[in-house]
Amino acid sequence: MAVPKRRTSHARQGKRRSHMARHPMQLQYCPECQEPVLPHRICSNCGTYRAHKYEKKEEEK
Ligand SMILES: [Zn+2]
Repeated sequence: MAVPKRRTSHARQGKRRSHMARHPMQLQYCPECQEPVLPHRICSNCGTYRAHKYEKKEEEK
């Protein structure tokens, strides 16, 4: 079994974990109804995504 030759120092461990922080939620605003929407999702209020109108019943499946 592979065994680490050196222990991981606290500094190195912290550097590795520096990318693990949670980021604040990315919110954009719908150009149609100005509601806050998640990026790359259709608007939950008016069902619009990239100037295309999708029906509201997209939650199936
Ligand atoms: Zn909308």
